[in-house]
Order: sequence, then structure tokens, then C-alpha cells
Amino acid sequence: MTTLQQIDLRCPICDTRFRSQAVVSTNSFGGKRTDFHERAAGTQPLPYLIHMCARCGYSGSERDFSDEAEVSPLLKEHVWNELAPALATGAVTGSEKYEAAAKVSEWQGMEPRYVADLLLRAAWCCVDEGDSEAERFFRRKAAWMFEQALASYDGVAREERAVLTYLVGELWRRVGDTRQAAEWFNRVPDEITDVQCQQWVMDAARQQRDCPRDWFG
Ligand SMILES: [Zn+2]
Repeated sequence: MTTLQQIDLRCPICDTRFRSQAVVSTNSFGGKRTDFHERAAGTQPLPYLIHMCARCGYSGSERDFSDEAEVSPLLKEHVWNELAPALATGAVTGSEKYEAAAKVSEWQGMEPRYVADLLLRAAWCCVDEGDSEAERFFRRKAAWMFEQALASYDGVAREERAVLTYLVGELWRRVGDTRQAAEWFNRVPDEITDVQCQQWVMDAARQQRDCPRDWFG
């Protein structure tokens, strides 16, 4: 099962101290979806891997609340102007935390690949929150961001290109755009660097194009 623990954090933007719940341990006994969304048995850990300051809206992983956090005056300005006014009262959802964390990472100038991962996780949270409209919104944003990463010079390691190309296809498929999905699935064979290790990616791309499944295994 997933175990959570209370942690004390200090917001590097507004200096507020607050408590948040963090993941101590989790499991993957809930299976894996074909967009790599790993499910835990019991509580899903995803919403507890990102923390949000309730005063200014700054969000990120535990590391983003440590001394290692990169906080520029421009980032502070963005947080106060764009995250703080949008703060909802009451419990904040996992997808809201990931959306804010994705914005913070963009303002920090993080690589598209990193931002894309946060947007993908926002979409995964929406699945658990039962919000299919928001799920499609984040899937689209994640797909565009992964595409940007793939288009940039060394934005993605050579050996990771096939799997991310597959993932972009799967994101479009889950949005309902089968034409774009097929285009991306068809690009997977050209991105293979190691036929033996990556045979499964080619198989998955063909399967999701021709006879899609929602779960691996
Ligand atoms: Zn704050």
C-alpha cells in the first residue's frame, strides 16, 4: 500500500511555513496503462509528490521547497501575478498542483521534456478525479510539449526518442485524434536505436494504431 507522511515545508517565494503530505512508499500493483500511468493498489501517490503553498500558489516537488530551489525575481513576479490570484479556497486537487508546478518549471526555464512530464501527470490525476474534459486538455498540452522536446536538438536522449514518440501517439489517441496518433505511431520504427531492447515499443505502437488497448499486460 501507499504510505504518506506529514512534512514541513517553507515556501521560497513568500516564506510561509506549512505542512504537506508526502509519499514514503508506494507500489505498482494496480497495473500500468498504455500511456505509462502506473497504478498503485490503495491510495494513488501522484497527488502527494507535488506540494503547493496555500498563500502564493507556488508548487513543486519537495526539492523545489529546499535551498536548491531556483527562485529569481521574475519567477516571484509570475507566481504573485498568475498563481496567487487563481488560488482556490479549500482542498486543492492533484491536477491543480501539477498544472501550477508545470507553470513554475516553465518560468524557471526548465526543458520542455521536464514540463511535459508534469503536464502528463496532471492528466493522470484528472483520470482519478473523474474530469475527462480537463484530462484531454492536459493530454493535448503534454503532447505538444513532448513534441517540442523531440523537435529540439538533444531535447531527448537518442535512446528515449522511440518511447516518447510512441507516447505522443498514445496521448493523441486518448484525446480522440486517431489521425495524429497514427502519424506518431508510424514514426516509432525510425526512432529505434536498439532493436532487441526496443522491440516492445514497436509492438506497442503497432498495437495502439491497429487494435488499441488501455492497459499493458
Ligand atoms: Zn508561498
